[in-house]
Amino acid sequence: MSPSPVSYRLAALPALVDPWLQEVNPLWSLTEVRARIVAIREEAEDFRTFVLAPNRHWPGHRAGQFVPVAAVVDGVRTERCYSISSAPTRDRHTFEISVRRVREPRDGILSTYLHTQARVGDVLRLGRPAGDFVLPDDFAGKLLLVSGGSGITPILSIARDLAARNRLRDVVFVHAARSEAALPQAIRRELEALPFAGVHFLVGPLTPERLAEIVPDRHTYSRVYLCGPAPMMERFVGDVGGTPTGVLVTERFQAPRESAASLRGEGEVTPVKVAVGRGRVVAVATTPSLLEALEAAGERPRYGCRQGICNSCRCEKRSGIVEDLRTGKRSGPYAEEIRLCTSRAVSDLELNLGDAR
Ligand SMILES: Cc1cc2nc3c(=O)[nH]c(=O)nc-3n(C[C@H](O)[C@H](O)[C@H](O)COP(=O)(O)OP(=O)(O)OC[C@H]3O[C@@H](n4cnc5c(N)ncnc54)[C@H](O)[C@@H]3O)c2cc1C
Repeated sequence: MSPSPVSYRLAALPALVDPWLQEVNPLWSLTEVRARIVAIREEAEDFRTFVLAPNRHWPGHRAGQFVPVAAVVDGVRTERCYSISSAPTRDRHTFEISVRRVREPRDGILSTYLHTQARVGDVLRLGRPAGDFVLPDDFAGKLLLVSGGSGITPILSIARDLAARNRLRDVVFVHAARSEAALPQAIRRELEALPFAGVHFLVGPLTPERLAEIVPDRHTYSRVYLCGPAPMMERFVGDVGGTPTGVLVTERFQAPRESAASLRGEGEVTPVKVAVGRGRVVAVATTPSLLEALEAAGERPRYGCRQGICNSCRCEKRSGIVEDLRTGKRSGPYAEEIRLCTSRAVSDLELNLGDAR
């Protein structure tokens, strides 16, 4: 059944009303989650925590989940995902994200903005918390938490949540930082004071062999949670210290090299026409991903993770055929939702980028 004209009008209401509400109070919105920065803490070199007080649309999070965060940088709405580093609380008054400033190979847009321009009192726009890097509700058994660099954030949320529930007795925590200056000292003191089975803060690369030395009984753990920079994650694929473990659960901040290559796509580059809404039609190549192809054509669609995790680039395809770059499966020609970062155009398309801009 197609939506009635009344439901179309209701759906358009926030876009009409929100700008007025925002004039009165930037936190107010009919539907959007927004949060005020109420404190900023320096944790280590180029790594800071933002304490956020959300509006009433914040649904609360599960330990280990991430949230899409958006700000207007140089006039462009820019959205990225950040794992929540605080434990869930019942009152949901505040929560925290911790952001590493990306400098290589060039300054990252949103992380640089958050480190150099964001101030206490500013309001950020947020999506809803998402992700399945979470413990099962009925989890029992020994747990190994392993992080590298900014990958500490979801692990920290899980550790803090377990601490609040007095369940650290069978938990070992291992964190590796690239240098002494990158070690988050206040977090280190906080965790070292908790009754873990073991807490280890290291400097330098973490390899499966090094982990095997630190946690020699790692094969007795029911679950291993792992989050860190791409090279560290790649070292650990299929190997958590040379011995099979129960279940390895990973969270990636960047796509692994081979899947990033597949999302860029190689081969066909036949140009097709894409109607992007508001009467505009652009010519794009059939590879790489629609996201990159549209960017190359001068469009600025919204995106978050660029790897099919966060849904920020989700938009409506009204007609035409796309291929899912991860599965190779082709869509039908009918209307459906697609993600720009994991799809490529196969034919001329009609898109509604309304929400994805
Ligand atoms: C689920 C999830 C959770 C995450 N959680 C966290 C977290 O808790 N903490 C955290 O710090 N990060 C986290 N991230 C990473 C975060 O979302 C951003 O990717 C990160 O902050 C970089 O964003 P940016 O806008 O600063 O960089 P971008 O501007 O998006 O740049 C990304 C990279 O591309 C490079 N680059 C940009 N333009 C060019 C160019 N023209 N040529 C070559 N290279 C270029 C940049 O140098 C950088 O290395 C998470 C990501 C995901 C997917």
